[in-house]
Amino acid sequence: EIRKINKNYFSSYSSFGIHRDMISDKVRTDAYRQAISENPSLLRNAVVMDVGCGTGILSLFAAQAGASRVIAVEASDKMAAVATQIVKDNSLLRNGISSDGSQQDGVIEVVQGMVEELDNADHIQPQSMDVLLSEWMGYCLLYESMLTSVLFARDKWLKPGGAILPDTATMFVAGFGRGATSIPFWENVYGFNMSCIGQEVVEDAARVPIVDVIDSCNIVTTTKVLQNFDLVTMQPKQMDFTAEVELEPKLVVPLNNPTGSKLEITWCYGLVLWFETGFTERFCREKPVVLSTSPYDPSTHWSQTILTFREPIAMASNSGGDKLAEVGTNDCPAVKIQSRISIVRASQHRSIDISMELTGIG
Ligand code: SAH
Repeated sequence: EIRKINKNYFSSYSSFGIHRDMISDKVRTDAYRQAISENPSLLRNAVVMDVGCGTGILSLFAAQAGASRVIAVEASDKMAAVATQIVKDNSLLRNGISSDGSQQDGVIEVVQGMVEELDNADHIQPQSMDVLLSEWMGYCLLYESMLTSVLFARDKWLKPGGAILPDTATMFVAGFGRGATSIPFWENVYGFNMSCIGQEVVEDAARVPIVDVIDSCNIVTTTKVLQNFDLVTMQPKQMDFTAEVELEPKLVVPLNNPTGSKLEITWCYGLVLWFETGFTERFCREKPVVLSTSPYDPSTHWSQTILTFREPIAMASNSGGDKLAEVGTNDCPAVKIQSRISIVRASQHRSIDISMELTGIG
Protein backbone atom coordinates (compact mmCIF):
# COMPACT_ATOMS: atom_id res chain seq x y z
CA GLU A 1 0.00 0.00 0.00
CA ILE A 2 2.74 2.47 0.98
CA ARG A 3 4.68 1.51 -2.12
CA LYS A 4 1.69 2.26 -4.27
CA ILE A 5 1.11 5.62 -2.62
CA ASN A 6 4.78 6.51 -3.03
CA LYS A 7 4.72 5.40 -6.66
CA ASN A 8 1.75 7.67 -7.38
CA TYR A 9 3.35 10.47 -5.42
CA PHE A 10 6.69 10.35 -7.23
CA SER A 11 5.09 9.89 -10.62
CA SER A 12 3.11 13.07 -10.00
CA TYR A 13 6.49 14.79 -9.87
CA SER A 14 7.58 13.39 -13.22
CA SER A 15 5.39 15.77 -15.15
CA PHE A 16 7.22 18.91 -16.15
CA GLY A 17 4.17 21.12 -15.58
CA ILE A 18 4.42 20.81 -11.81
CA HIS A 19 8.10 21.82 -11.91
CA ARG A 20 7.29 24.73 -14.14
CA ASP A 21 4.61 25.87 -11.67
CA MET A 22 7.01 25.65 -8.75
CA ILE A 23 9.84 27.43 -10.54
CA SER A 24 7.47 30.13 -11.82
CA ASP A 25 6.33 30.79 -8.27
CA LYS A 26 8.72 33.71 -7.87
CA VAL A 27 7.98 34.22 -4.19
CA ARG A 28 9.04 30.64 -3.54
CA THR A 29 12.01 30.38 -5.86
CA ASP A 30 13.41 33.85 -5.08
CA ALA A 31 13.23 33.15 -1.34
CA TYR A 32 15.38 30.04 -1.80
CA ARG A 33 17.73 31.77 -4.22
CA GLN A 34 18.20 34.67 -1.84
CA ALA A 35 18.82 32.46 1.15
CA ILE A 36 21.34 30.39 -0.82
CA SER A 37 23.17 33.08 -2.76
CA GLU A 38 23.20 35.88 -0.20
CA ASN A 39 24.69 33.87 2.63
CA PRO A 40 28.19 33.20 1.27
CA SER A 41 29.71 32.36 4.63
CA LEU A 42 27.26 29.47 4.90
CA LEU A 43 27.44 28.15 1.34
CA ARG A 44 31.02 28.81 0.25
CA ASN A 45 32.95 25.53 0.25
CA ALA A 46 30.04 23.77 1.92
CA VAL A 47 29.01 20.18 1.32
CA VAL A 48 25.30 20.34 0.56
CA MET A 49 22.48 17.81 0.24
CA ASP A 50 19.38 18.81 -1.74
CA VAL A 51 16.52 16.57 -0.61
CA GLY A 52 14.14 16.12 -3.57
CA CYS A 53 16.03 18.11 -6.20
CA GLY A 54 13.39 17.94 -8.96
CA THR A 55 14.92 19.89 -11.86
CA GLY A 56 17.96 20.55 -9.68
CA ILE A 57 17.25 24.25 -9.34
CA LEU A 58 18.29 24.54 -5.67
CA SER A 59 21.45 22.52 -6.31
CA LEU A 60 22.33 24.84 -9.18
CA PHE A 61 21.90 27.85 -6.87
CA ALA A 62 24.10 26.14 -4.28
CA ALA A 63 26.82 25.40 -6.85
CA GLN A 64 26.65 29.00 -8.04
CA ALA A 65 27.03 30.16 -4.43
CA GLY A 66 30.32 28.29 -4.14
CA ALA A 67 29.41 24.95 -2.55
CA SER A 68 32.26 22.46 -2.88
CA ARG A 69 30.01 19.43 -3.31
CA VAL A 70 26.26 19.13 -3.84
CA ILE A 71 24.43 15.83 -3.56
CA ALA A 72 21.10 16.20 -5.32
CA VAL A 73 18.76 13.39 -4.31
CA GLU A 74 15.63 12.71 -6.33
CA ALA A 75 13.26 9.74 -6.06
CA SER A 76 11.50 10.14 -9.40
CA ASP A 77 13.70 8.34 -11.94
CA LYS A 78 12.55 10.59 -14.71
CA MET A 79 13.34 13.79 -12.79
CA ALA A 80 16.68 12.37 -11.59
CA ALA A 81 17.64 11.74 -15.24
CA VAL A 82 16.45 15.18 -16.27
CA ALA A 83 18.31 16.85 -13.39
CA THR A 84 21.50 15.01 -14.42
CA GLN A 85 21.10 16.28 -17.96
CA ILE A 86 20.45 19.84 -16.77
CA VAL A 87 23.46 19.84 -14.46
CA LYS A 88 25.61 18.51 -17.30
CA ASP A 89 24.26 21.07 -19.77
CA ASN A 90 25.29 23.77 -17.33
CA SER A 91 28.78 22.27 -16.92
CA LEU A 92 28.30 21.62 -13.23
CA LEU A 93 28.37 17.81 -13.13
CA ARG A 94 30.92 16.20 -10.83
CA ASN A 95 33.14 13.75 -12.71
CA GLY A 96 30.89 14.21 -15.71
CA ILE A 97 31.63 13.84 -19.37
CA SER A 98 30.38 16.64 -21.61
CA SER A 99 28.72 15.83 -24.92
CA ASP A 100 31.98 16.76 -26.69
CA GLY A 101 33.75 14.11 -24.64
CA SER A 102 35.65 16.47 -22.36
CA GLN A 103 35.82 15.95 -18.62
CA GLN A 104 33.57 18.10 -16.39
CA ASP A 105 34.69 18.86 -12.88
CA GLY A 106 31.62 20.49 -11.49
CA VAL A 107 30.38 20.01 -7.95
CA ILE A 108 26.91 18.49 -8.35
CA GLU A 109 26.12 14.79 -8.33
CA VAL A 110 22.58 13.59 -8.83
CA VAL A 111 21.57 10.45 -6.97
CA GLN A 112 18.36 8.70 -7.95
CA GLY A 113 16.34 7.22 -5.09
CA MET A 114 14.45 8.08 -1.98
CA VAL A 115 16.64 9.87 0.52
CA GLU A 116 15.58 7.19 3.02
CA GLU A 117 17.25 4.57 0.85
CA LEU A 118 20.52 6.32 0.15
CA ASP A 119 23.54 4.56 1.54
CA ASN A 120 27.26 4.93 1.88
CA ALA A 121 27.69 3.19 -1.45
CA ASP A 122 27.28 6.60 -3.00
CA HIS A 123 30.52 7.63 -1.23
CA ILE A 124 28.69 9.83 1.19
CA GLN A 125 29.70 9.69 4.82
CA PRO A 126 26.94 9.74 7.43
CA GLN A 127 26.66 13.07 9.25
CA SER A 128 28.95 14.82 6.80
CA MET A 129 26.71 17.49 5.26
CA ASP A 130 27.26 21.13 6.17
CA VAL A 131 23.92 22.18 4.71
CA LEU A 132 20.65 20.40 4.06
CA LEU A 133 18.45 22.10 1.48
CA SER A 134 14.90 21.15 0.68
CA GLU A 135 11.66 22.51 -0.63
CA TRP A 136 9.31 20.08 1.08
CA MET A 137 6.27 22.21 1.88
CA GLY A 138 2.82 21.06 0.77
CA TYR A 139 -0.60 22.62 0.87
CA CYS A 140 -1.41 23.65 4.42
CA LEU A 141 2.33 23.10 5.01
CA LEU A 142 2.05 19.43 5.89
CA TYR A 143 0.12 17.87 3.00
CA GLU A 144 2.39 15.30 1.28
CA SER A 145 4.31 14.74 4.52
CA MET A 146 7.65 15.17 2.77
CA LEU A 147 8.94 16.79 5.95
CA THR A 148 9.52 13.35 7.45
CA SER A 149 12.05 12.67 4.67
CA VAL A 150 13.88 15.90 5.47
CA LEU A 151 14.02 15.01 9.18
CA PHE A 152 15.29 11.57 8.25
CA ALA A 153 18.02 13.13 6.12
CA ARG A 154 18.87 15.52 8.95
CA ASP A 155 19.43 12.70 11.40
CA LYS A 156 21.39 10.53 9.01
CA TRP A 157 23.40 12.89 6.82
CA LEU A 158 23.70 16.30 8.47
CA LYS A 159 26.80 17.13 10.52
CA PRO A 160 26.10 17.89 14.17
CA GLY A 161 25.41 21.62 14.17
CA GLY A 162 24.91 21.68 10.40
CA ALA A 163 22.41 24.01 8.74
CA ILE A 164 18.93 23.25 7.46
CA LEU A 165 17.36 25.58 4.92
CA PRO A 166 14.70 26.58 5.77
CA ASP A 167 15.10 26.04 9.52
CA THR A 168 11.70 27.12 10.84
CA ALA A 169 8.07 26.80 9.78
CA THR A 170 5.08 28.55 11.32
CA MET A 171 1.38 28.01 10.70
CA PHE A 172 -1.07 30.88 11.10
CA VAL A 173 -4.83 31.16 11.39
CA ALA A 174 -7.37 33.97 10.99
CA GLY A 175 -11.11 34.29 10.35
CA PHE A 176 -12.52 35.26 6.95
CA GLY A 177 -15.68 37.12 5.99
CA ARG A 178 -18.44 36.84 3.45
CA GLY A 179 -16.38 38.40 0.67
CA ALA A 180 -14.13 35.36 0.63
CA THR A 181 -17.04 32.98 0.00
CA SER A 182 -18.90 32.38 -3.26
CA ILE A 183 -22.04 33.99 -1.85
CA PRO A 184 -21.53 37.48 -3.34
CA PHE A 185 -20.69 36.04 -6.77
CA TRP A 186 -23.93 34.04 -7.10
CA GLU A 187 -26.10 36.81 -5.70
CA ASN A 188 -25.93 38.80 -8.86
CA VAL A 189 -25.25 37.04 -12.13
CA TYR A 190 -25.97 39.46 -14.97
CA GLY A 191 -28.68 40.85 -12.72
CA PHE A 192 -30.21 37.48 -11.82
CA ASN A 193 -30.28 36.04 -8.34
CA MET A 194 -28.50 32.68 -8.23
CA SER A 195 -27.80 32.77 -4.53
CA CYS A 196 -29.11 29.22 -4.02
CA ILE A 197 -25.86 28.06 -5.65
CA GLY A 198 -23.74 30.21 -3.33
CA GLN A 199 -25.54 28.72 -0.37
CA GLU A 200 -24.90 25.19 -1.57
CA VAL A 201 -21.23 25.89 -2.31
CA VAL A 202 -20.72 27.19 1.22
CA GLU A 203 -22.46 24.14 2.69
CA ASP A 204 -20.19 21.84 0.66
CA ALA A 205 -17.15 23.83 1.72
CA ALA A 206 -18.02 23.12 5.35
CA ARG A 207 -17.21 19.45 4.70
CA VAL A 208 -13.74 19.70 3.16
CA PRO A 209 -10.85 22.13 3.37
CA ILE A 210 -10.38 24.15 0.20
CA VAL A 211 -7.12 25.44 -1.24
CA ASP A 212 -7.67 28.89 -2.66
CA VAL A 213 -6.39 32.44 -2.48
CA ILE A 214 -8.04 34.73 0.06
CA ASP A 215 -7.74 38.47 -0.35
CA SER A 216 -6.52 40.12 2.84
CA CYS A 217 -9.46 42.56 2.72
CA ASN A 218 -11.66 39.57 3.53
CA ILE A 219 -9.82 38.68 6.73
CA VAL A 220 -12.10 39.77 9.57
CA THR A 221 -10.10 38.78 12.65
CA THR A 222 -6.68 39.16 14.16
CA THR A 223 -4.09 36.59 13.10
CA LYS A 224 -2.75 34.00 15.53
CA VAL A 225 0.09 31.51 15.36
CA LEU A 226 -1.33 28.00 15.22
CA GLN A 227 1.93 26.07 15.49
CA ASN A 228 5.69 26.61 15.34
CA PHE A 229 8.16 24.06 14.02
CA ASP A 230 11.89 24.12 14.57
CA LEU A 231 13.39 21.88 11.93
CA VAL A 232 16.65 21.54 13.83
CA THR A 233 15.08 19.85 16.82
CA MET A 234 11.61 18.65 15.85
CA GLN A 235 10.57 14.99 15.68
CA PRO A 236 8.20 13.62 13.04
CA LYS A 237 5.48 12.98 15.60
CA GLN A 238 5.19 16.75 16.14
CA MET A 239 3.64 16.94 12.69
CA ASP A 240 0.46 15.72 14.39
CA PHE A 241 -0.84 18.36 16.74
CA THR A 242 -3.85 20.06 18.29
CA ALA A 243 -3.81 23.77 19.04
CA GLU A 244 -6.31 26.23 20.47
CA VAL A 245 -6.68 29.78 19.27
CA GLU A 246 -8.76 32.79 20.20
CA LEU A 247 -9.54 35.25 17.43
CA GLU A 248 -10.83 38.78 17.82
CA PRO A 249 -12.63 40.77 15.15
CA LYS A 250 -10.25 43.10 13.41
CA LEU A 251 -12.40 45.39 11.35
CA VAL A 252 -13.63 48.84 12.07
CA VAL A 253 -17.21 48.52 10.92
CA PRO A 254 -18.52 51.26 8.64
CA LEU A 255 -22.01 52.37 9.61
CA ASN A 256 -23.25 53.71 6.32
CA ASN A 257 -23.28 50.38 4.63
CA PRO A 258 -24.59 50.07 1.09
CA THR A 259 -27.74 48.18 2.09
CA GLY A 260 -28.84 51.31 3.95
CA SER A 261 -29.57 49.43 7.13
CA LYS A 262 -28.36 51.03 10.32
CA LEU A 263 -26.72 47.93 11.62
CA GLU A 264 -23.72 46.28 10.14
CA ILE A 265 -22.51 42.97 11.38
CA THR A 266 -19.14 41.47 10.75
CA TRP A 267 -19.75 37.84 10.02
CA CYS A 268 -17.03 35.27 10.19
CA TYR A 269 -17.56 32.42 7.73
CA GLY A 270 -14.65 30.25 8.69
CA LEU A 271 -10.94 30.08 9.32
CA VAL A 272 -8.07 30.36 6.91
CA LEU A 273 -4.69 28.70 7.45
CA TRP A 274 -1.34 29.59 5.93
CA PHE A 275 2.35 29.19 6.70
CA GLU A 276 5.74 30.83 6.56
CA THR A 277 9.11 29.18 6.45
CA GLY A 278 12.14 30.97 7.84
CA PHE A 279 15.74 30.95 6.72
CA THR A 280 16.62 32.57 10.02
CA GLU A 281 19.77 34.31 11.26
CA ARG A 282 20.65 31.06 13.07
CA PHE A 283 22.20 29.87 9.78
CA CYS A 284 21.56 32.72 7.34
CA ARG A 285 23.57 35.34 9.21
CA GLU A 286 24.23 37.65 6.30
CA LYS A 287 20.71 37.58 4.88
CA PRO A 288 17.83 35.99 6.75
CA VAL A 289 14.83 35.33 4.50
CA VAL A 290 11.16 34.57 5.13
CA LEU A 291 9.05 32.69 2.60
CA SER A 292 5.48 33.73 3.33
CA THR A 293 2.23 32.33 1.96
CA SER A 294 0.15 34.86 3.92
CA PRO A 295 -2.91 36.52 2.37
CA TYR A 296 -1.22 39.80 3.35
CA ASP A 297 1.70 39.00 1.03
CA PRO A 298 1.86 38.29 -2.72
CA SER A 299 0.21 34.96 -3.46
CA THR A 300 2.08 31.73 -4.09
CA HIS A 301 1.15 28.39 -5.66
CA TRP A 302 0.27 27.17 -2.14
CA SER A 303 -2.57 29.72 -1.89
CA GLN A 304 -4.23 29.41 1.53
CA THR A 305 -6.28 26.64 3.13
CA ILE A 306 -9.90 27.51 3.85
CA LEU A 307 -11.97 25.83 6.58
CA THR A 308 -15.61 26.90 6.38
CA PHE A 309 -18.06 26.96 9.30
CA ARG A 310 -21.46 25.29 8.90
CA GLU A 311 -22.99 28.63 9.81
CA PRO A 312 -21.37 32.05 9.97
CA ILE A 313 -20.73 33.67 13.33
CA ALA A 314 -21.62 37.30 14.05
CA MET A 315 -18.49 38.85 15.50
CA ALA A 316 -19.25 42.52 15.84
CA SER A 317 -22.18 44.81 15.23
CA ASN A 318 -22.07 48.53 14.93
CA SER A 319 -25.11 49.87 16.70
CA GLY A 320 -25.35 53.56 16.18
CA GLY A 321 -24.19 56.87 14.78
CA ASP A 322 -22.94 57.94 11.42
CA LYS A 323 -19.35 57.13 12.12
CA LEU A 324 -16.86 54.33 12.03
CA ALA A 325 -17.14 52.41 15.23
CA GLU A 326 -14.14 50.92 16.89
CA VAL A 327 -14.62 47.22 17.40
CA GLY A 328 -14.92 46.31 21.06
CA THR A 329 -16.27 49.69 22.17
CA ASN A 330 -19.86 50.23 23.33
CA ASP A 331 -20.84 51.34 19.83
CA CYS A 332 -19.64 48.09 18.49
CA PRO A 333 -19.56 45.16 20.89
CA ALA A 334 -17.35 42.33 19.77
CA VAL A 335 -17.23 38.61 20.33
CA LYS A 336 -14.21 36.35 20.20
CA ILE A 337 -14.08 33.00 18.51
CA GLN A 338 -12.35 30.17 20.29
CA SER A 339 -11.42 27.22 18.19
CA ARG A 340 -9.47 24.01 18.42
CA ILE A 341 -7.73 22.81 15.30
CA SER A 342 -5.95 19.54 14.88
CA ILE A 343 -3.88 18.31 12.01
CA VAL A 344 -2.79 14.70 11.84
CA ARG A 345 -1.18 12.68 9.11
CA ALA A 346 -3.59 10.16 7.68
CA SER A 347 -2.33 6.65 8.37
CA GLN A 348 -0.08 5.16 5.63
CA HIS A 349 -0.90 8.13 3.54
CA ARG A 350 0.57 11.34 2.24
CA SER A 351 -2.58 13.28 2.99
CA ILE A 352 -3.55 14.92 6.27
CA ASP A 353 -6.73 15.09 8.29
CA ILE A 354 -7.71 18.53 9.46
CA SER A 355 -10.39 19.05 12.06
CA MET A 356 -11.78 22.29 13.40
CA GLU A 357 -14.00 22.63 16.41
CA LEU A 358 -15.60 25.76 17.79
CA THR A 359 -15.04 25.69 21.51
CA GLY A 360 -16.49 29.07 22.39
CA ILE A 361 -17.98 32.30 21.17
CA GLY A 362 -18.19 35.40 23.29
N1 SAH B 1 13.76 21.11 -5.24
C1 SAH B 1 12.90 21.27 -6.41
C2 SAH B 1 11.71 20.32 -6.39
C3 SAH B 1 10.80 20.45 -5.19
S1 SAH B 1 9.40 19.37 -5.27
C4 SAH B 1 12.46 22.71 -6.52
O1 SAH B 1 12.61 23.43 -5.54
O2 SAH B 1 11.95 23.11 -7.56
C5 SAH B 1 9.88 18.01 -4.28
C6 SAH B 1 10.69 16.97 -5.02
O3 SAH B 1 11.15 16.06 -4.05
C7 SAH B 1 9.92 16.16 -6.05
O4 SAH B 1 10.63 16.14 -7.25
C8 SAH B 1 9.82 14.74 -5.42
O5 SAH B 1 9.85 13.71 -6.39
C9 SAH B 1 11.06 14.73 -4.53
N2 SAH B 1 10.97 13.88 -3.32
C10 SAH B 1 9.95 13.85 -2.42
N3 SAH B 1 10.23 13.00 -1.41
C11 SAH B 1 11.45 12.48 -1.66
C12 SAH B 1 12.27 11.53 -0.99
N4 SAH B 1 11.87 10.96 0.13
N5 SAH B 1 13.47 11.22 -1.54
C13 SAH B 1 13.87 11.80 -2.69
N6 SAH B 1 13.13 12.69 -3.39
C14 SAH B 1 11.94 13.04 -2.88
